[in-house]
Amino acid sequence: MKIAILGCGVVGASIAYELSRIPEFDITVFDRDTPASGSTGAALGVLMGAISQKKLKSRAWKLREASLQRYKTLIPELEAQIDRSIPRNDNGILKLCAPDENIAKWETLIAQRRDQGFPLERLSPNEVRTRYPLVSTDEIVAAVYSPLDRQIQPIPLTEALVEAARQNGVQFEFNTLITDAEIEDLETRVCRSLIYKENRSISIDWVVVAAGLGSTPFTEVLREPVVIQPVLGQALEFSIDLPASMPTVTGNDVHLVPHNGRGWVGATVEFPDDRGKINAASHLLEILKQQAISFCPTLAKAPILRQWQGLRPRPVNRSAPIIEMLPGYANVVLASGHYRNGVLLAPATADAVRSIVNRY
Ligand SMILES: Cc1cc2nc3c(=O)[nH]c(=O)nc-3n(C[C@H](O)[C@H](O)[C@H](O)COP(=O)(O)OP(=O)(O)OC[C@H]3O[C@@H](n4cnc5c(N)ncnc54)[C@H](O)[C@@H]3O)c2cc1C
Repeated sequence: MKIAILGCGVVGASIAYELSRIPEFDITVFDRDTPASGSTGAALGVLMGAISQKKLKSRAWKLREASLQRYKTLIPELEAQIDRSIPRNDNGILKLCAPDENIAKWETLIAQRRDQGFPLERLSPNEVRTRYPLVSTDEIVAAVYSPLDRQIQPIPLTEALVEAARQNGVQFEFNTLITDAEIEDLETRVCRSLIYKENRSISIDWVVVAAGLGSTPFTEVLREPVVIQPVLGQALEFSIDLPASMPTVTGNDVHLVPHNGRGWVGATVEFPDDRGKINAASHLLEILKQQAISFCPTLAKAPILRQWQGLRPRPVNRSAPIIEMLPGYANVVLASGHYRNGVLLAPATADAVRSIVNRY
């Protein structure tokens, strides 16, 4: 069976790897650029899983739980196959709670997650100070520590997925923009081929649309537009020696990710204006920086090595992500619009796509 995947961000690469484990599939991945050149290349890779306030029976939690479970096996599996490690922070996630935080809600979550096998721990400001002396407790009333949540670097992860998928027989066509599609049967609407540069085409049995923001123009080509809007995020990299045992710290929706003499801080959340334009706002970057300094004062003196920005793909008028058959089509699967959690949800998405393709 011939499967084309549109997009080689963390989502497309995860799908390619997951499907590559099924020998009957003949898979080609297309990206208009290089792997992880879209939203994935800007992501911090914080996997807010067990520590996220998602209701037990909600889809949002089920996807998170599936991803957390898969990450446990996926990382060693990939590392063994490509014979190198994927940089990450396995020290858990520490969530700082400001006075306006609903602590009772956190207590409920702690009890729930414990029953599910995710040992969250409530810490007092004193305990935070003792364990993590670089974290300021001046503005917090408590903290929640989740040892099983983690961070993984999105670019090396995507590269690892590409390399492992390639070893399993997947073809990759980079710098190849898919511009059009041929719909064979207007009645059942079967997409039979994809068109790319110099009018070349590839015939397919299935197409998986994992093109992030590029999913909107492609679904327009198929006359079933799925609207995904960009939401800009800015981030900073500091030169700072944080203890090797330090977890990712998150407070007030700002993350500090420690790794190897660096600290990543992110990210702003900036929506387009009425005309659909977004210009990165320097004052929001400054607020982000000050918030990070408020919970890790050592950052104030740390040199900034890099600042960057990226666009998150956010579905309009529906919840993220979109993982389903494109309405009206018999062989087009959407795996797009992961908004703020594409790295977290990539393994669960890949698994869901495999189930859809296997079902038909
Ligand atoms: C600053 C910032 C911080 C973030 N932090 C986190 C975080 O901590 N944790 C987390 O889980 N998520 C985070 N995210 C969100 C995460 O980056 C996205 O949800 C995720 O990268 C989406 O992955 P994707 O593969 O769907 O999209 P993308 O990475 O955008 O990949 C889509 C790919 O499709 C290609 N493409 C598009 N159209 C076509 C076409 N017609 N033909 C061929 N190729 C095409 C593009 O070139 C692109 O490479 C963050 C995002 C930003 C911007």
